Order: sequence, then C-alpha cells, then structure tokens
Amino acid sequence: MAFPTARHDHSACIQAALDAAEQECRRRGARLTDTRRIVLELVWESHRPVGAYALLESLGKLGRSAAPPTVYRALDFLLAHGLIHRVASRNGFIGCPHPGHAHGGQILLCTQCGMAAELDDPALDQEIVNSAARLGFSVNRQTIEVEGLCPVCRAQRNSEEEQNYVA
Ligand SMILES: [Zn+2]
Ligand SMILES: [Zn+2]
Ligand SMILES: [Zn+2]
Repeated sequence: MAFPTARHDHSACIQAALDAAEQECRRRGARLTDTRRIVLELVWESHRPVGAYALLESLGKLGRSAAPPTVYRALDFLLAHGLIHRVASRNGFIGCPHPGHAHGGQILLCTQCGMAAELDDPALDQEIVNSAARLGFSVNRQTIEVEGLCPVCRAQRNSEEEQNYVA
C-alpha cells in the first residue's frame, strides 16, 4: 500500500473500507447500524484524523443531528471492532484499511499536510510484545504514532530547497 496522495481515487478507499467493515461485522456477529456506518463513512471522508466534534458537525450537515453520546457510542463500537484507530496526538480517529486481525496500528502522520497512513507490520507488533515481555509487561493494545513528511510534502520541500539554492 502506498502513502495516499492528494490525487487518488478516494471513493475506492471508502468503498473498500465499508466492504471490509461489513465483512468484519458479519464475521463477529456485530451489527453495523445506520449510525455506525455513517460515522465510519465520515471518518473515511479523508485520510486525515478527524475528531469527535467535527464528526458531530458533519452529521448535523447531513441533517442527522445526533447527540454527542450517540457519536461517542458509535466511535466506541468502531474502535472495539478494529474498524478505526484512535490517533491520540491529533485527538482524532482514522479508518483502518485492513480490519480483521488484531493490531494496534502503526500510524504515519505527515506534519505538513496532516495525511495519515498505516503501516501494517505484524513483525513490529510482535517485537514490542516481546520487548515488553522481557520487562514482565503484557501488552493489551498498542498504537504507534510516527510523525514525518509524506512523499508529496517531501517532494515539495525538495523543490523549494532547490529554488532557494538557485536564488
Ligand atoms: Zn483514499
Ligand atoms: Zn489498522
Ligand atoms: Zn504531507
């Protein structure tokens, strides 16, 4: 999976995520209700972490004014079933493109444009579990947030640097 750029067919991302969510809920015998699905779609509106407050606003714009507890409950459901990840440093959430196996998520965050993407590296998960075990610690859940520059912002920065050099 490549890091998402500004120009990609995001409707395909949304469709794939919703299909995967359907499948995962069926496998778990969980019910993806209307509200839960809409909240999931709103989380997937972009690859940038979205906060609960922004979700409430978006719901309102859809003419579905929801009380905050409704949104929080939907988010809790989506988290519990691994359909989204919490991004603590952004106080928000991103959709998980590959639910269905237990993972905390290794999230790459671009500090320039705010785009996020997930590394899916089970070896990294296992390494943390092993290292923690050496300290007698058992890991329940782990989410790693890694900040940096995405390919688009890197390219932009490089060309700016070149221009400065010429000037
Ligand atoms: Zn996309
Ligand atoms: Zn994930
Ligand atoms: Zn970027």
